[in-house]
Amino acid sequence: MVKISVVVPCYNEESVIVETNSQLNAVLSTHFQEYEILYVNDGSKDKTKELLISFKGSFPNIKSIHFSRNFGHQPAVSAGIKYATGDYIIIIDADLQDPPALIPDMVKKAEEENANVVYAVRKSRMGESWFKKMTAKYYYRLINSMSETQLPLDTGDFRLIDRKVADAFNNIEEKQKYIRGIITWIGFKQVPIEYDREERFAGETHYPLTKMIQFAMRGLLYFSKKPLTLATNLGLTLVALSVLFFIAQFIKWIFYPDTFEIGWMSIFGSIIFFGGIQMLSMGVLGAYIGNIFDEIKNRPEYIIDEIN
Ligand code: UDP
Ligand code: MG
Repeated sequence: MVKISVVVPCYNEESVIVETNSQLNAVLSTHFQEYEILYVNDGSKDKTKELLISFKGSFPNIKSIHFSRNFGHQPAVSAGIKYATGDYIIIIDADLQDPPALIPDMVKKAEEENANVVYAVRKSRMGESWFKKMTAKYYYRLINSMSETQLPLDTGDFRLIDRKVADAFNNIEEKQKYIRGIITWIGFKQVPIEYDREERFAGETHYPLTKMIQFAMRGLLYFSKKPLTLATNLGLTLVALSVLFFIAQFIKWIFYPDTFEIGWMSIFGSIIFFGGIQMLSMGVLGAYIGNIFDEIKNRPEYIIDEIN
């Protein structure tokens, strides 16, 4: 008999967690004989912790892991996968944007198609800003054009993984994990399932623009080395352009000496231009070096305060 583990990262989710918990338990208990729900409380500052602990009395299949502070969505999911004991592990958001009702279909699909991963693809997204949808859409396409690993489009972390994939995942020592990328990179048989992404049940997103950018940068820097070659390509192009420019100036000086003047604007312009290009290239280098620095420190991904 298969055991199902559901991993739910939670950060300040007091307004939704009771509803999420009852929906998850309702779905799981009607479809599966053996299951567990693992809540990972990512250092919430509201009542999330107390609520999670209070569930234990009425729901025996629940475990909650509490971090010592807010480490972020990805570390929370990593911890959940590490502590999950099921044959199939489902990663789902706490805010009911990913419908729990899809879980049985995901398991069915994994069994029928003998798949190791079933990733949920958003057919539509409700209640999210035009800006978020647009940036998400183009971001995944951009990353695919640059990455060595082809990531499925319009897919978040909502997915099912089996024991094989979970074991492979747990053995990966990268500290700053871009989970959707890593799971794709792991391989085995991965199949999509479509769904409509709901509106957040209550509360507000914990992914403001700054966090979105950080997350996007992690995906890009950890899955592509193309930005590094960008600097070289830019440099080469500019050298070629400047050679052409000097040839043109030389011709002008020979054939039209009257119109030839020694200007300062061109010098000033090229200083700013080349300065900008150099700063940009250094910034790209710096971003990679920063990541090497973080990885080499070898700090744990998260610190657990207690497990209930
Ligand atoms: N989350 C987390 N730690 C954080 C931010 C978010 O564990 O620092 C959780 C959050 O509780 C939710 C999931 O990650 O279950 C997705 O976050 P959210 O719904 O805020 O993001 P959005 O759906 O707007 O992208
Ligand atoms: Mg959400």
